[in-house]
Amino acid sequence: MTESPTAPARLLEGGPIAAEIRAAVAEDVATFTVTRGRPPGLAVVIIGRDAPSTVYLEQILRGCAKVGIAGRFVELEGQATESSVTAVIREVNDDPTVDGVIIQMPLPPTIRLRTIVDCIDPSKDIDGIHPLNAGLLRLGYDGFLPATAHAAVEILRRSGIEIAGRDAVVVGRSAVVGMPAAFLLVREDATVTVCHRRTRDLAAHVRRAEIVVVAAGRPGLITGAMLRPGAVVVDVGINVVDGHLVGDVDFESASRVASAITPVPGGVGPLTNALLLTHLIRAAERHSPGTVAVATGEPT
Ligand code: NAP
Repeated sequence: MTESPTAPARLLEGGPIAAEIRAAVAEDVATFTVTRGRPPGLAVVIIGRDAPSTVYLEQILRGCAKVGIAGRFVELEGQATESSVTAVIREVNDDPTVDGVIIQMPLPPTIRLRTIVDCIDPSKDIDGIHPLNAGLLRLGYDGFLPATAHAAVEILRRSGIEIAGRDAVVVGRSAVVGMPAAFLLVREDATVTVCHRRTRDLAAHVRRAEIVVVAAGRPGLITGAMLRPGAVVVDVGINVVDGHLVGDVDFESASRVASAITPVPGGVGPLTNALLLTHLIRAAERHSPGTVAVATGEPT
């Protein structure tokens, strides 16, 4: 079943959904802070300030400040060794005022990803990168979800898009976005195909899909001509082209064929940040059980 193919594509905007979530988070944070005598805490470990992702992490900290979460950078110099990074992660793991930990990605080439993810306390791993959380997702149990993959599926759910029984294609199979998005779609009872660079005839797979989630990091990879009329398109890509932020989907042609599509910017991105805050509240509640009625409780 697809949406009406003749109507102009509905814009699935993340901003209004994110605003609702942040308002609920602010309530939960206020209750938590009063009942526990401290705000929920987030530590963002950054290795050098000049990585492009620092801007994104600063945005997260601003979001925390707005809702009353105590967020802070834990900063290492750009030349930091693997052992100095793991030492800092152990410190925040042991810090009772820190409920959630995010590590700046990508890591410098001298630092092994596996060493770092293994070191994070899974109960503070609010972006779901620890193997335990990845395994819980794979097995269908409750753990921390990678926020971007969570947002890609949550934008569909909260926009009232039917997922169960539908044919979905996920373009991209990374551990942080593509694969967790695929597992979440399966959990929502979609029939899912995962495509990657070795996929033969990407267009043929995409053309069959009623839901297309694109997380490839390739601007313009998916065009309107590749889509099934009435498909729902979630564009996770974030690329800078000629100084402008664009997704992986050619919005202009795709929005003439799709029934609904997420814009870039303004689609999955804002929701990702808001959901990360809900993960933090959940972690804080687990570390410091009490009476908070978690208004933002996750559906998955
Ligand atoms: P990644 O680790 O580079 O993975 C990209 C995936 O896309 C890989 O699985 C790759 O296939 C596949 N791919 C690349 N080119 C392809 C092609 N021509 N045809 C089919 N598949 C192709 O990237 P990522 O971390 O998953 O991020 C994906 C995108 O999401 C990026 O644009 C990133 O900036 C964006 N992102 C957005 C948010 C947000 O909040 N909206 C957060 C994180 C990331 P192989 O496995 O075969 O190499």
